[in-house]
Amino acid sequence: MSSPLFSWGLYPAAPQTAHGCTWKSEVPQQLDCLNSEFGSTLAYGNGRSYGDSCLADSDHVLHMRTLNRFIEVDWQRGVVTAEAGITLAEILAVAIPRGWFLPVTPGTQFATLGGAIANDVHGKNHHVRGTFGNHVRRLGLQRHDQDLLTCSPVEAPEMFAATIAGLGLTGVIIWAEIQLIPIKSCQIDSSAVRFDNLADFFALSTELDHQHEYSVAWIDCLAKGAQAGRGVFFVGDHAEYGAKTVEERSKLFVPITPPISLINKLSLHTFNEAYWRVHPATQTRKRVNYEPFFYPLDRIDHWNRIYGRRGFQQYQCVIPQPVAEVAIRELLSAIAQSGQGSFLAVLKRCGEITSPGLLSFPIPGTSLALDFPQNKHLAALFARLDAIVHEAGGRLYPAKDAHMSGKDFRQAYPAWERLEALRDPSLMSRFWKRVTK
Ligand SMILES: Cc1cc2nc3c(=O)[nH]c(=O)nc-3n(C[C@H](O)[C@H](O)[C@H](O)COP(=O)(O)OP(=O)(O)OC[C@H]3O[C@@H](n4cnc5c(N)ncnc54)[C@H](O)[C@@H]3O)c2cc1C
Repeated sequence: MSSPLFSWGLYPAAPQTAHGCTWKSEVPQQLDCLNSEFGSTLAYGNGRSYGDSCLADSDHVLHMRTLNRFIEVDWQRGVVTAEAGITLAEILAVAIPRGWFLPVTPGTQFATLGGAIANDVHGKNHHVRGTFGNHVRRLGLQRHDQDLLTCSPVEAPEMFAATIAGLGLTGVIIWAEIQLIPIKSCQIDSSAVRFDNLADFFALSTELDHQHEYSVAWIDCLAKGAQAGRGVFFVGDHAEYGAKTVEERSKLFVPITPPISLINKLSLHTFNEAYWRVHPATQTRKRVNYEPFFYPLDRIDHWNRIYGRRGFQQYQCVIPQPVAEVAIRELLSAIAQSGQGSFLAVLKRCGEITSPGLLSFPIPGTSLALDFPQNKHLAALFARLDAIVHEAGGRLYPAKDAHMSGKDFRQAYPAWERLEALRDPSLMSRFWKRVTK
């Protein structure tokens, strides 16, 4: 029997029993068995979602990782068709040497193609390319007791829209066809500049976002007073020349889960101060490999263990642009007062490109994401943050969530009823049950 699976935050601690398939033709039968034996199931990609959206209500998941083959590739046009359990890293490993890159990538390359579609992930270039779903041309969807359905903007368009950001509930994505973007090098021309407060972040974002493919900022979540919202602004573009190689990077790893979190107020203060100071006060350029630019945390296997046995939660919200600065100031003030948080705190402006996905998270505005070690004070802090987000007309990201109330979810995602109407009754997640039932 294989080890149980969890979500990335290790919270809630709901071990999932994995049931796999070797061939895509086995999925209908497996769905049938899981449904009759356990009442329902859910596709599980690679468990890079933080909360309970990748956990089955029955705690029995259909593990998709073994369905990870390429089906058809057109290197002239950069169109890739692959089984949904393939990881983004596996796609990049063959695409980069041929001069192609993912159009949109999240901060981990260990998400699967199916997981990237089901959460309609976004990346550092949301302001120019939208979400992952904007680049999906077609997909094959297996629903319980039905034939494999091909969905695209023109074939079964309603099911296509519901499946992108559909949280794995409309069916099992068996394969997908995506459009890549051309690159001339595997390197990124990046630059970094530190900023002193939140107003400076917004000024930099307005000045730099439209000049670059990628932009994102790290913020010091404990900084208070005049320094509240200080951080480091990063931008980047694919280099115009250079090698197109994918190298095996040496890896670090966290071998065990310590009984308590290694992230505390003292370690966080020390890290944040040093990280802010080490970055230049004037914009400084350097050429870096794509991996440290996009996926710095992927270098450390099981980094999620540093938060201890109780795990951690990520809080990610997006606030509409007109009120973003005011609301994010309030959020940061509540977080700094609580003394909680982690070194991972990210601010990013989301652009205007609309996703085809019914329940896609990004809206034009600014997104804030922070990790918090799980502890008994977190619920009170999250209640305070939720009130600010709600008041500002913002929303939380289901892919990261383990706490939002059903009321907040249904209000922030009014299209949820259309997804519920198209949900395959054999599929149910802990998240969906928590927020809709
Ligand atoms: C370090 C790190 C950085 C991250 N950065 C970002 C970021 O910048 N932007 C962002 O948007 N997200 C980010 N994420 C979140 C992550 O990209 C998403 O949660 C992604 O969906 C995880 O993919 P997965 O394959 O691991 O899917 P899982 O987490 O296993 O599952 C996610 C959802 O996809 C569904 N699913 C998986 N496979 C299938 C399938 N074949 N058919 C139907 N449904 C399926 C599941 O049912 C579930 O609802 C980050 C996560 C980590 C750990």
